Amino acid sequence: MTTQKTPKLDRRSPPGTVEFIGSFPGKMPDSLLPEVAFAGRSNVGKSSAINALLNRKKAARVSGTPGRTQAINVFECDGALSVADLPGYGFARVPDAVKRTWKGMIERYLSEREHLKLVVVLVDARHTAQEMDRMLLDSLADAGLHRLVLATKIDRVAKNKRKPGLAKLGANLGLAPKELMPFSSVNGTNVREAWSRIGRICGV
Ligand code: GDP
Repeated sequence: MTTQKTPKLDRRSPPGTVEFIGSFPGKMPDSLLPEVAFAGRSNVGKSSAINALLNRKKAARVSGTPGRTQAINVFECDGALSVADLPGYGFARVPDAVKRTWKGMIERYLSEREHLKLVVVLVDARHTAQEMDRMLLDSLADAGLHRLVLATKIDRVAKNKRKPGLAKLGANLGLAPKELMPFSSVNGTNVREAWSRIGRICGV
């Protein structure tokens, strides 16, 4: 009998292979792999963060026109971990109908995705917590899902303002300090730590 080796992720370095599975505005294909999803307000730096974590220039699209994609983009890393890039939310100029579609899509995704292990929520380190961020974090907690919150663009915050700023942001979001991780895809702050944490939580 041959034993098939389960693909394993190297948590200390970015994935060797990243396969784009597809862009799904509706039903997603079933996957047996553990999955990590990325969510955040439009323009928060989600695409840049995914690209930094996967060490790819454009796995996810870095957009000049936020809030347009209403589809879930899926990638597979080293045949071991599925990555779902959820559409950005909260862009002011998006019509209400689109916002409702977003909400329905995300609620369906979170409740139906069987192998979802972790949702990485991105918030801007320079801004105060937004209502949508809090709602998302609360619904993840209610669903019993692991959360990792990245405070993006930390390179843009003056060094002496980082600690108090993060403490305030974390408190506003109702997070324990270890749930909020400063992050920058520009200077690489915590890119490796976040990747390793994702692998650990997803059990790959
Ligand atoms: P998305 O809409 O959430 O996917 O955001 P993008 O990744 O497209 O980024 C939005 C804008 O923020 C772009 O102009 C990026 O270059 C910029 N950006 C993203 N991440 C960082 C970061 O860590 N530091 C800085 N300074 N800018 C960033």
